[in-house]
Amino acid sequence: MVRILDKMEEYAIENNIPIMMKDGIEFLTNYIKENNVKNILEIGSAIGYSAIRMALVSSDIYVTTIERDETRYNEAIKNIKEANLGNQINIILDDAFNVDIDFKFDLIFIDAAKAQYIKFFEKFKNNLSSDGVIVSDNLKFHGLVDTTEHIESRNVRQLVRKLKNYIDFLENNKEFETTFYDLGDGVAVSRKK
Ligand code: SAH
Ligand code: MG
Repeated sequence: MVRILDKMEEYAIENNIPIMMKDGIEFLTNYIKENNVKNILEIGSAIGYSAIRMALVSSDIYVTTIERDETRYNEAIKNIKEANLGNQINIILDDAFNVDIDFKFDLIFIDAAKAQYIKFFEKFKNNLSSDGVIVSDNLKFHGLVDTTEHIESRNVRQLVRKLKNYIDFLENNKEFETTFYDLGDGVAVSRKK
């Protein structure tokens, strides 16, 4: 198993796939273990790295994960098969905004297009079990969210603005209480009040 994970980490570096950072994924898998999380929905599978890490916590954990990019989806399918986790991980090839799931999850992990986080949150909060949480990744966006320096790229500037809006949305949310963790690339855990 370690070999498969190592191989995926190398593939991610070589192909510029933004898989979750080491201490971020450790935090997430610990949270899953300690809170007895069993059913997980992930938005943004990429090559299946975080889905596999979450499923490996325990053999009675089930992960549904959505990916819109066909190349990454195919790579994920290959990795899930190689890890022998086909019975625990269900991967869907589609844009998450086209996917309607009639099921409640203990944990929803938002790790897809950073500009759409509010929309993902609003769409999928209906799939949360009563004591479930929504975990969001990359709230620091490589430290750029906190920088006071001018960001050259217009695209990146817009993304950072959207992430700041999302943080604001979480901080002022009437339904959810959010804790922000300054680890990995910035992780937030939101729970219904
Ligand atoms: N969770 C993965 C990394 C995901 S990277 C890990 O840590 O291992 C983000 C992925 O989200 C990309 O592969 C991108 O194609 C996908 N994505 C972005 N917007 C999406 C959408 N609207 N629907 C489905 N997938 C999306
Ligand atoms: Mg991420």
